[in-house]
Amino acid sequence: MDSRDVALQSVLPTVMVPRYSELEELATPGNRLLMAANGVWLEVCRAWLYVRLPVAKPASIPVPYGDVSEEMRFGFGKLPKAMVAQFIELARARCPNECAAWVVWNSRTNEWRLTMLEETSVGPGHVNVNLPALGEDEHMVMDLHSHGLTEAFFSRTDNKDDRGATKIAGVIGNLDKPEATASFRLCANGVFVPLQSPIGQEGSK
Ligand SMILES: [Zn+2]
Repeated sequence: MDSRDVALQSVLPTVMVPRYSELEELATPGNRLLMAANGVWLEVCRAWLYVRLPVAKPASIPVPYGDVSEEMRFGFGKLPKAMVAQFIELARARCPNECAAWVVWNSRTNEWRLTMLEETSVGPGHVNVNLPALGEDEHMVMDLHSHGLTEAFFSRTDNKDDRGATKIAGVIGNLDKPEATASFRLCANGVFVPLQSPIGQEGSK
């Protein structure tokens, strides 16, 4: 096989799911495609995440594979509410302009930190940023941004930005209101899964 194919396939290897034994889960950071009797699944592993999600329907012919089921586990306890609350306060101060931040988890110390992203260009409808460097054992878990005065929703630009990423994306909106709105999702290498907001359903009283 061409060495370029070897390199390409190592990024996303395909695994045949066994029918008579347990699937050995991916235990190191990476991505795999799982060929199962109940469809094609994406498996993503990071220091902070293990997730298995359906990405294609089962083959139309009988296949000699087993089934897999949906799975989503985080390597830390709960999502860091305090970091999100802190971001909302900082985003209010910058409203109507947008802003963005990373919530970084240290897998060795189990500590969280919020880091505002350095803006290269900013306004009420956009924010462009420089991405910070992370220390050893540090992982960008949440990518937060604000929508200033408008609602919290994932825009077409957000979808494009999040296409190949593995992270939890959060958007906060209506920052002029006493209760901001929030929308969260897991981005797993191109698959988006809505998540409950870690700050509860702010905005819907
Ligand atoms: Zn957005």
